[in-house]
Amino acid sequence: MTMKTYIHQPVNYGVKSMSRTVYVNGNYVPEEQATVSVFDRGFLFADAVYEVTSVLGGKLIAFDGHAKRLERSLRELQMDAPCTMDELKEIHHEMVARNDLVEGLIYLQVTRGAADRDFAFPKDTKPTIVLFTQAKNLTNSPTADAGIKVISIPDIRWGRRDIKTVQLLAPSLGKMEAKAAGADDAWLVEDGFVTEGTSNNAYIVTKNGTIVTRNLSTDILHGITRAAVLRLAAEAQIKIEERPFTVDEVKDAAEAFFTSASAFVCPVIEIDGCPIGTGTPGPVANRLRDIYLQEALKTAT
Ligand code: PMP
Repeated sequence: MTMKTYIHQPVNYGVKSMSRTVYVNGNYVPEEQATVSVFDRGFLFADAVYEVTSVLGGKLIAFDGHAKRLERSLRELQMDAPCTMDELKEIHHEMVARNDLVEGLIYLQVTRGAADRDFAFPKDTKPTIVLFTQAKNLTNSPTADAGIKVISIPDIRWGRRDIKTVQLLAPSLGKMEAKAAGADDAWLVEDGFVTEGTSNNAYIVTKNGTIVTRNLSTDILHGITRAAVLRLAAEAQIKIEERPFTVDEVKDAAEAFFTSASAFVCPVIEIDGCPIGTGTPGPVANRLRDIYLQEALKTAT
């Protein structure tokens, strides 16, 4: 495998020997003092949505896409927004500054708020909003260099995967099952077709060079990275088919990869113990990773 050179070489990812600053309901507080109520519906009902935005060079990647998806998730659940999306962007920038974050992630969660426990939505609760940062080397990724191994498992999640809720126990169990099987992640299968990865969108590249990824519906999360990568692939004259594909098609593919806001584009080299293509990261995935990173850095805010 050739050594890769990266466009972005941060010297420090926001080294955190000290406590982080966390945002909770209008206040920036040390993480030890960041708390929410035990009556919060995020805790009791997973009645909450979230977003994860990457930070490169101290700038936000694709913030507007994440803000739009958050608004949609809130709307689908008839949940109030805790602030405007402009205010939310300000808070993200403030979190980058207060945590000296150069490279890593900003996690944002909004819940319906705290109220006495009742399945029916309470009236007039104030949404809870929490943000925290995670310093992380995203661009120099040994995982992306090596590619990952996946297993296929049944998709046991609920039917509205297009809403980015914090109901993440099924994906968490899937990830644990993958690790127990000596793999890195699981691709979820429903009615014979791959939906997506536990926390990412899934793709194959056929032997004739076409990218195949599942079409948007309520079956999968509408990835912000997916939208950008498909646009960039089309601009690079790569043929795209948005349709469901089977595990047999993955085994027969020239390459496979996944996308997410934190991993960007990452090759998948094996499924259920079968090497995909040459069993090493493929040229299409590597090229798309490079193109995506260049574009992300250019358009970061
Ligand atoms: N699908 C699922 C189930 C996910 O959890 C994620 C990441 N949150 C994605 C896809 C990728 O979405 P994005 O590119 O917006 O991170």
